[in-house]
Amino acid sequence: MKNWTEVEDIISKSKRVVILSHRSPDGDSVGSSLALYHYLTNFISHVQVITPDPAPKFLSWLAGFETILNYQENEQKINQELQEADLICCLDFNTPSRMGDLEKAFRLNTDAFIINIDHHQDPEDFADFQLSDTSASSTCQLIYDFIVGLKGIDKLTVELGEAMYTGIVTDTGSFRFSSTSKHTHNVVAELIEVGINPGQIHENIFNNYSVDRLKLLGFALNERFNIYEKYKAAIIYLSEKDLNQFQFQKGDTEGLVNYPLSVENIRMSILITEKDGKVKMSFRSKGNFRVNELSAKYFNGGGHFNAAGGISDVGVLETVQKLEEIFPEYEKELNA
Ligand code: 5GP
Ligand code: MN
Repeated sequence: MKNWTEVEDIISKSKRVVILSHRSPDGDSVGSSLALYHYLTNFISHVQVITPDPAPKFLSWLAGFETILNYQENEQKINQELQEADLICCLDFNTPSRMGDLEKAFRLNTDAFIINIDHHQDPEDFADFQLSDTSASSTCQLIYDFIVGLKGIDKLTVELGEAMYTGIVTDTGSFRFSSTSKHTHNVVAELIEVGINPGQIHENIFNNYSVDRLKLLGFALNERFNIYEKYKAAIIYLSEKDLNQFQFQKGDTEGLVNYPLSVENIRMSILITEKDGKVKMSFRSKGNFRVNELSAKYFNGGGHFNAAGGISDVGVLETVQKLEEIFPEYEKELNA
């Protein structure tokens, strides 16, 4: 593991940098990628942000968003970018397998210096320099610490700050999750000092949706919402057909999993969605029920204590059934 001086030296010598994010990029992965992009372009002429699949449109107002390449649509170009890179920054994931198909292309370059900045549990040791803090609210907050470590805080700009704030506000559920700390607010205070407008950013992120998205929310809560009082749990399940009915666009189900937690006595919420024939799961909990363990045990997943994800290898309704069979195992814990 290298130290800060060595990382500074690597950055000063790098000519081509690639920034990589996880599958289904979210506010924190896109925000941290663009924040680091804006920082590194101060020193390096070629910096390329790459996502495994397209970044969601609700973030398209971020400066630099239009420069992002996704592997689904630019495989060849990205293979070349990765081969030519002398520095690769892996943001907001703890293991290369979170990049999906992009992992293979990433592995082909064995010479580049690898930096990993992340806040997920159980970080894998795959980088030359790793800034991992599982207590951090977001990877964006760690990008701030990274810039401080490099003594580059005078390089903060509004564009960079907007990207950084986006990841912090989305990953903390607008500053309400327990990962929100004094440091989180101090970082935001610095960003306000630089000139970001939190109210406007909030508008851009949360009040910019389609009518269909709102109708999908209504449909999900009316027609596809099961409550299991005995287990203090809830499931929302949406098939591909359901989603298509509402002209589903990437990002439309973002935040949906949180609604059941607003019901009295519900401690765990699970969202099941089917996209391109794949069944994806999102888990959220309140208090000390560890959804990352449940997700790792039954759904090839993982994540944080109170927010995790996974994949189901059966259909949507079968997944609901499977969960109903699993719940009794956790009855005690969920009622503790
Ligand atoms: P989300 O429900 O927002 O997709 O994901 C919640 C959290 O779980 C995120 O922090 C994400 O990194 C993690 N996560 C989501 N999907 C997966 C997955 O398939 N595998 C693992 N290990 N973690 C996931
Ligand atoms: Mn994150």
